[in-house]
Amino acid sequence: MRNYYIAGNWKMHKTVAESVALAKALVAELGSCGERVMIAPAFTALSAVADVVKGSRIVLGAQNMGPDLQGAHTGEISPLMLKDLGVTAVILGHSERRHSYLETDALINKKVLLALAQGLEPILCVGETLEERESGRLEAVVGAQVREGLKGVDAAALGKVTIAYEPVWAIGTGKTATPEDADAVHAYIRKVLAGLYGEAAAKAMCIQYGGSVKAENAAELMAKPNIDGALVGGASLKAESFGPIAKFRS
Ligand code: PEP
Repeated sequence: MRNYYIAGNWKMHKTVAESVALAKALVAELGSCGERVMIAPAFTALSAVADVVKGSRIVLGAQNMGPDLQGAHTGEISPLMLKDLGVTAVILGHSERRHSYLETDALINKKVLLALAQGLEPILCVGETLEERESGRLEAVVGAQVREGLKGVDAAALGKVTIAYEPVWAIGTGKTATPEDADAVHAYIRKVLAGLYGEAAAKAMCIQYGGSVKAENAAELMAKPNIDGALVGGASLKAESFGPIAKFRS
């Protein structure tokens, strides 16, 4: 039976006290959940949330990190600082980073390599805009994001990487790709991975879907053969909505 990976991206939401309260509620709610669950609070709340999730089944993630270990990089956060707080996973290349902060595939690739070198498990986000989809460039765009994002990642390290397919037009909009559409893109991503690393490695790879995932559509999405988990934004901000997504099988 597949083990799904359900991650919550809290984005720029919640004070430290609010983050601690949500983390406590999730630890209580998800004690018996069989899936792999990760939460990514804001940087400012990581330390406090780390204390709450310690010893629980919930993995602590960050929403981003800088591409360097240390030095004169004002405003950046190093993987060393994340590890120091108990972070073990990091979301990289989220579409909001790509589009609002103009992060390139080359920069994202540098972060992926650094995260892996530092023992952090990256979630590499990829996805097309509506304009790219409608002009028939979905596969070219997503394929390039996967290839460029993984450049220099060797087969031994690949198992530590998760890919999150997040169509930009489905993020925070309430529009979800149909399970069939999402699964078709996931299958394409697996084909790209097979070309890079071979069939077995591609099959073993965890590919999450992200884009308006809710309790109501989680089970239907997860039932698809190529969807191995979810990266959840809006619905991860409340235990009442994130809990049932993580427990979609029960
Ligand atoms: C996200 O930000 O990664 C995301 C998928 O957001 P939402 O679930 O709100 O669409």
